[in-house]
Amino acid sequence: MKVYADYAATTNVAPDVVAEITDVLSNQYGNASSIHTIGREGRRILDQARSTIAKRLNVTPREIIFTSGATESNNLAIKGVAYKNQHKGKHLITSSIEHHSVLHVFEQLEKEGFEVTYLPVDSHGFVTIEALKHALRDDTILVSIMFGNNEVGTVQPIDEIAQLLKDHQAIFHTDGVQTIGHMPIDLKALDVDLFTITAHKFYGPKGVGLLYVKDKTPIQFQQLGGAQETKRRAGTENIAYIAGMAKALELATENIASSNIQLSQLKQTFINALQTLEIPFELNGDMNMTLPHITNLYFPFSDVEKMLTILDMNGVYVSSGSACTAGSIEPSHVLTSMFGEHPRTKQSIRFSLSHQNTEEEVTYIAQQIKKIYEMSR
Ligand SMILES: *Cc1c(COP(=O)(O)O)cnc(C)c1O
Repeated sequence: MKVYADYAATTNVAPDVVAEITDVLSNQYGNASSIHTIGREGRRILDQARSTIAKRLNVTPREIIFTSGATESNNLAIKGVAYKNQHKGKHLITSSIEHHSVLHVFEQLEKEGFEVTYLPVDSHGFVTIEALKHALRDDTILVSIMFGNNEVGTVQPIDEIAQLLKDHQAIFHTDGVQTIGHMPIDLKALDVDLFTITAHKFYGPKGVGLLYVKDKTPIQFQQLGGAQETKRRAGTENIAYIAGMAKALELATENIASSNIQLSQLKQTFINALQTLEIPFELNGDMNMTLPHITNLYFPFSDVEKMLTILDMNGVYVSSGSACTAGSIEPSHVLTSMFGEHPRTKQSIRFSLSHQNTEEEVTYIAQQIKKIYEMSR
């Protein structure tokens, strides 16, 4: 059996999305900036995708900037706000469990003279409103806290944070990548200033994403050289992939409730199977306020490196949440924030499922883990 259970790293591309992309690629090659008929056809597809996406997120089309994915969107949001607003203050706030495309940007800004507060999380992976209130200062210009964590699945109180910041000058950015398709997202109601999305986490193609920029948010655009995206992000638009992302977003937002029920059942079956097989494990994260597709487990009997290799050989494709650099696994910064220096940070695995997975598959994963457990004794 072959089981892919690494959907938080990337998803396959949905057949309807492939069809949409193929159709645009085959039939439309115009540059959306050309004013002749062929160019205008490209422009029409681009405008249509933008309006579809805007409707789904409940924003206006001009508040969307298409990018090459979440890494670019996060860079643009954070650098863009920091550089544009530094006359109002140089203090920035983020959390210690952000994706590296957020954390590494803040580290760079620190080198450039900004002051950054990294909010800690509790042992379940939550930032507290109290800690944020305590960290906020008159010279804070940006708060960037992720919505759903990609390693442990915890969901931060983004609406409460947005309310808290309503009467503060700080601009609020959230990396919403993992929430798409798992939570209904209404950006007007949520009232954030900046929101990051990438298509390949919800059955769209890799290399395309967007940044929602609420109207009038002061931000310095980073990519110069053309008038695309109303001069906010230069470079010829990847029309086919943007159309694909629009299709993927439509599909992902259609069946959230039923897909979540299915995912919760799969998670429960998986956990039950581990218990029935008497495998020792503990959950990293929380059973409530969590994304249903992510299950991060601590197995106190094996290093992840060994475990991931054996699982791979047996057709189970999963990750540790941590970064894998040149084949060696660093302890996860997310688990380190939750538990400090503890073997747990190197003995945990992230299983991220999809509605495409089956009960047989998650049972198979549990059986493979049982074999590893028995070898370790
Ligand atoms: C995958 C991911 C990213 C990076 O997205 P890319 O499109 O690959 O750059 C950023 N943030 C989170 C939370 C992610 O899961």
